[in-house]
Amino acid sequence: MSSQTSTHEFQAETKKLLDIVIHSLYTERDIFIRELISNGSDALEKMRHESLLKKEVFDGHVPLEISIDLDEKEHTLTITDSGIGMTRAELETNLGTIAHSGSGTFVAELAEAAKKDVSLIGQFGVGFYAAFMAAEKVTVQSRSWDGSEGNEWVSDGTGSFSITECPGLHRGTRIIIDLKEDAHGYAEKWKVENIIKQYSSFVPFPIKLEGETVNTVQAIWTRSKNEITEEEYNDFYKFVGNAMDEPQFRLHFSVDAPLAINAVLFVPKENFEGMGFGRVDPGVNLYCQRILIDQHSEHILPEWLRFLKGVVDSEDLPLNISRQALQDNALVLKLRKVITKRFLKFLDEEAKRDADAYLDFWNTFGIYLKEGVTSDFEFQKELAKLVRFESSRSEDGKPTSLTEYVEGMDEGQEEIYYINGPNRAAIESGPYVEMFTKKNIEILYTMEPIDDFVLNHLGEFDGKKLVSADRADLDLSSADDEAAETENKEKLGSEAGVELISWLKKTLEDKVAEVIESKRLVDSPAMIVNPDGFMTSSMERVMAASRMEKGMVPESSKKNLEINLASPLIKQLAELVKNDEPFAADVAAQIYDNAMIQAGLVVDPMVMVERNYKILNKAVGA
Ligand code: ADP
Repeated sequence: MSSQTSTHEFQAETKKLLDIVIHSLYTERDIFIRELISNGSDALEKMRHESLLKKEVFDGHVPLEISIDLDEKEHTLTITDSGIGMTRAELETNLGTIAHSGSGTFVAELAEAAKKDVSLIGQFGVGFYAAFMAAEKVTVQSRSWDGSEGNEWVSDGTGSFSITECPGLHRGTRIIIDLKEDAHGYAEKWKVENIIKQYSSFVPFPIKLEGETVNTVQAIWTRSKNEITEEEYNDFYKFVGNAMDEPQFRLHFSVDAPLAINAVLFVPKENFEGMGFGRVDPGVNLYCQRILIDQHSEHILPEWLRFLKGVVDSEDLPLNISRQALQDNALVLKLRKVITKRFLKFLDEEAKRDADAYLDFWNTFGIYLKEGVTSDFEFQKELAKLVRFESSRSEDGKPTSLTEYVEGMDEGQEEIYYINGPNRAAIESGPYVEMFTKKNIEILYTMEPIDDFVLNHLGEFDGKKLVSADRADLDLSSADDEAAETENKEKLGSEAGVELISWLKKTLEDKVAEVIESKRLVDSPAMIVNPDGFMTSSMERVMAASRMEKGMVPESSKKNLEINLASPLIKQLAELVKNDEPFAADVAAQIYDNAMIQAGLVVDPMVMVERNYKILNKAVGA
């Protein structure tokens, strides 16, 4: 049966991918060579790793390398590797479907990117199918390292492919590209050589172009820093990161204790996740003595550092460790801790060295560090130094650090304050900052949904508690204020105040937990504060949204309403209660809704608008 030719349809997603590859990727055509070399190199890496784990492998004597042969007359380009090879079944699935998890989204995103900017495509790594950018026919001959008989896969990339048994092959894979008429140039040696130099010079196996090795195989991370040029580093970044541009930051470090580590880590310029391309895969490869153990390793760095590209090489790892064993390996955990701390220290140093460059980084990748704070307790101390927020003292768009905040604190201030809002203007015109402005106490502005969670997780910085200004128990008063307060003749008399408060409590009974006289409002009549010391209004909003998304009813807890007894509106309200109680009740409900809106919380807009018109009608005498 297996000697017969079998024909197979490409999976639907693969057909779409092929269609994009064939029709819209001309400008980036050169990358097909990079993609095929990269697949060959992966197969060789796997082979090298497997041969460490097993004694006997099929064709064990064959050197691990990639050969490229050209035929200008026949218009073919052939790439051969002596890697792990593929069985018949593997040919069928690997070269018929898309291996990516979430392949549907992948193809949709790719199509989107192809429309926007074809240069983005390179970053996607279209893989094997890139061959069809230049090929009218692709033939893949492959024999697996398990020694089973070899097979030949053939397709023109339109709808189907065939597989036929192909005896007499060596271990590995040979890909024969029959070049399209407008791609005949890829059979010219100088052209192919340039492409290899541009994209594949760091491939750790010899690449032989018509018998001649065209790359240097020395691993850059094992070389001494002062021997490596900027250009080499940048080229290496492009190679490991599949990138087109240059990195934003680079950290090359080598240590011998507590573990032997050589690492080169790059921060890219762009955040693809932030651009809406879906979650990025980790970009750091784990090596042991220059042998790739785990590509795009999920273990060597925490998940929130998935935007990093580069390599980590440690001689201390057992060479024959299997990928599965990496998961809970104590040594890997230790490595991860050391490298993460080193990288965070590096960021802190960069921030001190060039604050503007750090801010650029923060604006692009800060969200990952915030994710780190909320998901990973282990590095909170280091991360706390790296987070940035705007504040009442910072310039617009120039966030400040917690360290700077603490340095600017007046004597006697024990806590670090923050308040959430959609933007600077909204926060500054809202009620929460009034007393801070009056007393010239700095307050941080948290403007992203995740921010209050971040500060909540941190809990404190440098021994100072982090406190949201919408907390009910916040107390900014000091002895002299209280003296000043009692002198404040403008305020509603204490008896009338108590009466109004108890009336409000009754009137707003089903909405509020408590009504309290505010000690911190200056101009605004009222504000909402959270009696629960843990939740802030912003956190409540985020959690309500996530419950709604899951189709659950959002929970909302009752808030406290603080009122400003010195506000003209509140003073008049006390009068109104006596003269026209139903109208006073509408005003009270409107004050409550306004305060809720200023807290960023949800009110029923229909009810609110109807009531608002009722009040306006009265105001204009309609
Ligand atoms: P990716 O490399 O991103 O997984 P590809 O479409 O390029 O996606 O390749 C799909 C799969 O086909 C690979 O994961 C690998 O298992 C297999 N493959 C491709 N090229 C080779 C090769 N030269 N040798 C062995 N296996 C290969």
